[in-house]
Formats: sequence, structure tokens, C-alpha cells
Amino acid sequence: MLIAGNWKMFKGPAEAWAFADAFDPPDGVDVVVCPPYLALATVVEAGITTYAQNVHWAAEGAFTGEISATMLSELGVQGSIVGHSERRQFFGESDETVARRTVAALEAGLGVIACVGETEEEHDSGQKEIVVRLQVESIRDAVGAHERLVIAYEPVWAIGTGKTASPEEAQEAHAFIKSLVDVPVLYGGSVKPENAEELLSQSDVDGALVGGASLVVESFTAICQTAARIQS
Ligand code: PEP
Repeated sequence: MLIAGNWKMFKGPAEAWAFADAFDPPDGVDVVVCPPYLALATVVEAGITTYAQNVHWAAEGAFTGEISATMLSELGVQGSIVGHSERRQFFGESDETVARRTVAALEAGLGVIACVGETEEEHDSGQKEIVVRLQVESIRDAVGAHERLVIAYEPVWAIGTGKTASPEEAQEAHAFIKSLVDVPVLYGGSVKPENAEELLSQSDVDGALVGGASLVVESFTAICQTAARIQS
């Protein structure tokens, strides 16, 4: 079971250090924290497994504002999220660029949490399966069922909205994704201590990607504890 916290654009080094200082994750669950770039070194130094929130496909070059996989490795960062829906929605990320980032990160020895998921409109118009299929296939066709690849199923309508997929809906989507590529699948979308148990208990839910609730030590710890309990 893997619980990953996506801090989005919250917490600079000082707040990251305060979080790390107070955070005591339980045994029996893999925990990853994904801070903004500026706080990566702080979280690495605190001894927490650290992933970036994005990574470029080139090793170096004229790509202003970007960071490469080898630079992340040099810092002690162990992986990266790619294709988060906020990158897809606000920064022009496409299935093609997500696949390129995934290839580069895996080739550099990093782990990857690749995000997929349908928008509300796609969900309501019955296009969920085709959208998720195309997103997953583009990653699978680029890297296969790589041992350091994890998919996060994050229905866009559930991210930061307080709405969650029902446990049955999450289970169905995860089983579908695993029929396309046999890798662990995390659920993401308003996971909090109150709903973690029912979501993480589903047989094809291998963990969670947690946004808002990962910013507060108490709620992130509670989700990690639930995962450890279910795992045991
Ligand atoms: C996320 O950022 O990946 C996420 C799932 O956010 P939230 O938990 O806040 O919905």
C-alpha cells in the first residue's frame, strides 16, 4: 500500500520542515511526499521518500522553468508525479508529453506516479472509459508495466471538490486500468481520514494520492495509519 501526499503549490522550506518534524508515519505502509520544487531538498533531508510534482523529458537544455530527472536524482528525490490533472488543465499537458516525461523519469531511475482520470463532462457524457483507456494506453505503450510505474486514477471532478468516487466506482475503474497495464493503481480525489477506509479496502485500490488532506500532519498521518491497518 502506497500513500502519496501531493502538496501542490503549498509549503516552502520552512513549512515543509515543520511538517516533517511533526510527521511520524506508521510502519507497514509506503509513504511519499511530493512538495513544490523549492522544498524538495528539505523533505529529502528529513528522511521522507520524496517525489517531485513534475519532471521534464530532456536531461538538460533550453527549457526555461523546467527540471530534469537527473537533477532530481542528484538531490536525492526518488520519483515524480506526471500528468496531474492540474498540469493537463492549466499547463497544456497532453498524453504525449505525459508519456515522454514518464519515459525520461524511469530511464533516469526514478519512480513515477502517472495520473489519469476523466473530467466531470466526460464522466457525465459516458466517455470515462475511452478517456481513461487512451490516457493509460499512451503511458503503457511508452514504458509497459514498468516496475517503478504506478498509475493514479484521479477523476478530475473529485479533485479538491470534496466529492469522491464511490468505493464501487473506484474499484471498477482500477480493475479496468489493471486490465490495460498490470501496475499498482492509487485512488486520488478528496481522500480524507473519513473516507480512506472504504476506498483503501477495495481489492484493486493499492493506495492513495492525497492532495488537501496531505497538508495537515494529523489528517495525512490518519490516512497512513488506515492504510497500514488495512495492509496488515
Ligand atoms: C491531488 O492533488 O492529486 C488530489 C487528489 O487532491 P485532493 O485530495 O485535494 O482532491
